[in-house]
Amino acid sequence: MIQKNEIYQIRIEDMTTEGDGIGKVDGYPLFVKGALTGDLAEVKVIKAKKTYGYGRLVRLLEPSAFRVTPECEAAGPCGGCQLQAMSYEEQLRFKENKVRNNLLRIGKLEEVPMLPIIGMEDPFRYRNKAQFPIGTDKEGNPVAGFYAGRTHSIIPVRDCLLGVKENQKILDVILGFMKEYGVTAYEEEKGTGLVRHVLIRYGFRTGEIMVCIVLNGKRLPHGEVLVDRLRKIDGMTSISLNVNQKRTNVILGTEMVYLWGAEFITDFIGDVEFRISPLSFYQVNPVQTRKLYEKALEFAGLTGGETVWDLYCGIGTISLFLAQKAGKVYGVEIVPEAIEDARINAKINGIGNAEFFVGKAEEVLPAYYERNGGTADVVVVDPPRKGCDRAVLDTIARMKVGRVVYVSCDSATLARDVGYMREYGYQVERMQGCDMFPFTVHVETVCLLCRK
Ligand code: SAH
Repeated sequence: MIQKNEIYQIRIEDMTTEGDGIGKVDGYPLFVKGALTGDLAEVKVIKAKKTYGYGRLVRLLEPSAFRVTPECEAAGPCGGCQLQAMSYEEQLRFKENKVRNNLLRIGKLEEVPMLPIIGMEDPFRYRNKAQFPIGTDKEGNPVAGFYAGRTHSIIPVRDCLLGVKENQKILDVILGFMKEYGVTAYEEEKGTGLVRHVLIRYGFRTGEIMVCIVLNGKRLPHGEVLVDRLRKIDGMTSISLNVNQKRTNVILGTEMVYLWGAEFITDFIGDVEFRISPLSFYQVNPVQTRKLYEKALEFAGLTGGETVWDLYCGIGTISLFLAQKAGKVYGVEIVPEAIEDARINAKINGIGNAEFFVGKAEEVLPAYYERNGGTADVVVVDPPRKGCDRAVLDTIARMKVGRVVYVSCDSATLARDVGYMREYGYQVERMQGCDMFPFTVHVETVCLLCRK
């Protein structure tokens, strides 16, 4: 019988999809945070359930062949990355397996037509967006950082190795300003204090920078001083406030106050130019996004005259990519500001064959079909982690759409939806993983489903 607080010596045999190691004591599985497949370790049992338990890594006796020394100093406590100690090659293998296993187990596929995962040449500093929570340290100084795993205490890190170097410069200016003018940081437990988060976006191609400060209030005292300092930073293009007075984990509120410069920044994916507002979704890894969209375009198999729907289209990134090769593209997105951006993006790129609708995909597509009937050659979906609503999938099947290109950031919900579409006679033709988020357990995929 496994005892809590006892220490056992175990070999890690496998990993969970969340990146925790799994090892066994006489057949009883223990989940161990920070342990890698191949590690031989002393593990202290911190929780013992009937059929499995949780252990804490006490001592590494024999490190796994996949172990590397993390480059980031906050790798242990910071909850942002889970795979800092795993070699990049092994991360890619881990992600490919995760996708395959989900499709086998949840999607009930007999075989997965997987293409080799697309990795990054340089897996650092790939993020064009960072959202730093702001807090106060023990000495009363404002700090910026990231949440420790599964908690809301802030680990001070101003230079995250996944983000751009500019982040640190910007945070130094903001924290210095807060200290000098006694501007308070938000306190989550009490709901008091002013500055909650700093959102920074950076255009990789254009070098344009957006800073948006999220406030538990509507006004930033001495805001003009901060603006004056921030605008001196090379590339600064847009400075704004976001009002979020709700006691919630959601970072951004809905109200914007623009302080200086443009209300957006511009960036490119391939040859398509995009205007990005603070509230709009935009893919965080532009290098990999381009490769992913090229795959999606290839899977769509367009020849020039097709009718295509792009559901969950955000600011129209995929839509406009596809429009270059399609007859007509319809985009659907729930955030009105994103659709405003999508329409402008179509215009600035001289794309006249894309039309956009604000609303829920599960309402807009069925309503359109009820009214107009017809079909589409290709439907692209790129839903948030929870996957597609059944009404979307039902309508796609009723429209007898020939090809469905499913872009997904969560292969578990993708597998669920794929399983559902198989009942309608759709078959998985190709499955591609793309590593958009090195050092985290997340993996982006694009899947081609064809109607039989
Ligand atoms: N395809 C875009 C965005 C993908 S992210 C890109 O690659 O950039 C998912 C998007 O779905 C977000 O923009 C989100 O606002 C939107 N969304 C979430 N729920 C939705 C729903 N029910 N109907 C339509 N869009 C939705």
